[in-house]
Amino acid sequence: MKILVTGGAGYIGGTVATILLKAGHSVTVLDNLRHSRREEIPAGVSFVEADVADRPRVESLLRDLQPEGVLHFAALIEAGESMQKPEIYFRNNTASTLALLEAMLATGVDKLVFSSTAAVYGEPKTTPIEETADLAPTNAYGESKLLVEQMLRWFHQIHGLRYASLRYFNVAGAVGGRGEAHEPETHLIPLILDVALGRREKIFIFGDDYPTPDGTCIRDYIHVADLADAHILALQALSGCDRMIYNLGNGNGFSVREVIESARRVTGHPIPAEVKPRRAGDPARLVASSAQAKSKLGWQPKHPDLDDIMASAWAWHQQRYTR
Ligand code: UDP
Repeated sequence: MKILVTGGAGYIGGTVATILLKAGHSVTVLDNLRHSRREEIPAGVSFVEADVADRPRVESLLRDLQPEGVLHFAALIEAGESMQKPEIYFRNNTASTLALLEAMLATGVDKLVFSSTAAVYGEPKTTPIEETADLAPTNAYGESKLLVEQMLRWFHQIHGLRYASLRYFNVAGAVGGRGEAHEPETHLIPLILDVALGRREKIFIFGDDYPTPDGTCIRDYIHVADLADAHILALQALSGCDRMIYNLGNGNGFSVREVIESARRVTGHPIPAEVKPRRAGDPARLVASSAQAKSKLGWQPKHPDLDDIMASAWAWHQQRYTR
């Protein structure tokens, strides 16, 4: 298959692009390289340096390429930042995706796999969260993605767009020489591993007064290799099924303190931690039910164990700074 991957120089998009290439697909990556580096473009893809919002450029690319489908990863992803600068989230995530959808419509490309997020749920009423749960984001990041999901529903109904919206929980770990890194780094696991490497003095825990057993936020961590598998299955399934919305998580929740404990076990480093005030917009507990993805896509996470996920992240993190 010929596939366009937006954000394919990033952590998740790059991982999926690499797996698609290995499976024999022809992959074109579109990335503006604003949050990733040229060296991170997967070897073997055709690369186009452009912004998803550049409608004429994307339209002419789609017209030339006529891909089977688009995997749309390009986005801003920091919940904390979105509570300081919501406008850049609505512009880069919502408005940019509208430009992409218009370009797809104009060129007859009718299959999309969209990177959505657990943040669309906000503070869930029950756990594990099912796809039918209320959608009430507590941060502008989640809202920017939920607005896209709403556009997708109308594009599906009116224009026949076929789509899979995959709601990621907390993606972590490394595979095939690619691991989690953002610039600037704000995510929990890479920051903890920076402490283990001596690149930071301590990890700050953002709030220990949440209504959870140890007071810190609970998240569901999923290995990036498992997440990548789900994308390939979703893209294949779009030939038969025209609209899918699935959670992707492990169904196990770990608190910030438990994640730090896992890193202590895996790295052998004491990892000093200090409690700070809450970060705006963080729900207390986000844990997925992925029953739908399992039964409908035949998806099965192969690396559900947090220490295994942490060990793969740690191996990559160490070699990243010793190369
Ligand atoms: N977190 C933290 N210290 C940090 C970074 C994150 O305590 O330095 C917490 C954050 O408040 C959240 C959890 O770790 O409860 C996961 O945050 P991350 O930014 O990794 O992912 P998110 O859940 O926001 O997508």
